Amino acid sequence: MSHPFQAENRFADGAQYIAGELRPGTSGREHAVVDPATGDPVFTYELAGTADVDAAVEAAAQAFPGWAGATPGERSDAMHRFASVLAEQADEFADAESLQCGKPIKLSAEFDVPGSVDNASFFAGAARHLEGKSAGEYSGDHTSYIRREPIGVVGSIAPWNYPLQMAAWKVLPAIAAGNTIVLKPAELTPFTSLMFAQAATEAGIPDGVVNIVSGAGRDAGEHLVGHPDVAMTSFTGSTGVGKRVAEIATGTVKRLHLELGGKAPFVVFDDADLEAAVHGAVAGALINTGQDCTAATRAYVQRPLYDAFVAGVADLMATVRLGDPFDPATDLGPLISHTQRDRVAGFVERARSYATVVTGGEAPQCDLAKGAYYRPTLVTGATQDSEIVQSELFGPVLVVLPFDSDDEGIALANDTPYGLAASAWSRDVYRTGRATREIKAGCVWVNDHIPILSEMPHGGYKASGFGKDMSAYSFEEYTQVKHVMFDNTAVVRKDWHRTVFGDR
Ligand code: NAD
Repeated sequence: MSHPFQAENRFADGAQYIAGELRPGTSGREHAVVDPATGDPVFTYELAGTADVDAAVEAAAQAFPGWAGATPGERSDAMHRFASVLAEQADEFADAESLQCGKPIKLSAEFDVPGSVDNASFFAGAARHLEGKSAGEYSGDHTSYIRREPIGVVGSIAPWNYPLQMAAWKVLPAIAAGNTIVLKPAELTPFTSLMFAQAATEAGIPDGVVNIVSGAGRDAGEHLVGHPDVAMTSFTGSTGVGKRVAEIATGTVKRLHLELGGKAPFVVFDDADLEAAVHGAVAGALINTGQDCTAATRAYVQRPLYDAFVAGVADLMATVRLGDPFDPATDLGPLISHTQRDRVAGFVERARSYATVVTGGEAPQCDLAKGAYYRPTLVTGATQDSEIVQSELFGPVLVVLPFDSDDEGIALANDTPYGLAASAWSRDVYRTGRATREIKAGCVWVNDHIPILSEMPHGGYKASGFGKDMSAYSFEEYTQVKHVMFDNTAVVRKDWHRTVFGDR
């Protein structure tokens, strides 16, 4: 398979972006970025070591006073230019994302890239709308007001499933609020994070405001989280690693934002539009080859629709075209790696002893055999407490279970440790209204599953983490609130002093 993105040329100077320039890492350890569609290495780079993290944090710390001191209008102008540069380079971004992730080009070009450009344009505008609570004389003798201030250097860590969108979600609200940032992408997928930072420089955002360290989690990642000059950690990744990150961040008393794993339920009540639910389930389960933290993973279908739903999903899954990520007709690309494919296959193989694999459950042969492909897979007959229902697989696998009463459907939807996203399918506004109130998740869709918006927050409940990406709500993470209080009386001996010395 041929691909149009030449990483060797683009990153000839190295895969670290510090103080506005590419440079090699200094860890002494190399990493090969592999095309998951073929298993072939496409670029080898030296990973960031702790010295590279130190240099990036120092660059961000040096850039902070100037960037934090810029007016909202100046930051906004620079970010509008940033959005334009990203839009101009849209095709190159889509190619790089598809190459490193194995994502179908239509997904990169129509979802990842335009979504990230839209995020940049949203935060360019939002940079001018940061506000504190209005001032007031709450004691009668003082005027209080609120300043909303940037935090300082943000250290962010991102996963490999949506590298460009994760860079956008981490960098944009942070810099819109006047912070500077060091982002560590997953070592498997550094390309579009580096290009994103280069685009920031091209747009005139000062050197050091956006820095990228492409390194491993255990050393570069942990060093970034524990760094004394980093004021905040924003982490997106698995719940297991998130716990480790939380331990380190807590030890250095940092502000913490965690976007962790998911196991989204998809609840179909018996008055739902069956065809719409079937289409929604296949799209929701297979997006990004199921490597999506909000993907539909557990469909609960009320008994009268159950058989027809299973048959409809199996039929529709059979129409999904696996293929070369750069073929515009490809629907489903490979998983990120052979390791991830084998992990997903392991869950399905173990499920055969207690459940039924209705369709899929295997890697394709022939042309695609070298890649990390796995067929769309539908599993039924599993119990609620089984591994395949409870664990995050991160692959193109949907499990379907029946339910009887509405109470039961909602209870089952809530019965995992996760709470990132969910959907409810019904024509009855009271049923869906109840589901939106009672399902514990950061997002509940009604009669759809997956769409996200720059204007709306994304973040979890329960073991899916806390804090919000995107939208004006993300400024709650990336700013700190300062109370400023002025005495208005000019009185020397203030009335309250008697509680400390003397009498009235
Ligand atoms: P991961 O947790 O293995 O890795 C995420 C990042 O953490 C990577 O950059 C990795 O290098 C780094 N890391 C690993 N160990 C570390 C450590 N000890 N200290 C610091 N950093 C460390 O996750 P992944 O496999 O890259 O991505 C898949 C996971 O991400 C899934 O669980 C998925 O649900 C989650 N995710 C969540 C969201 C969300 O918004 N909640 C979005 C996308 C992905």
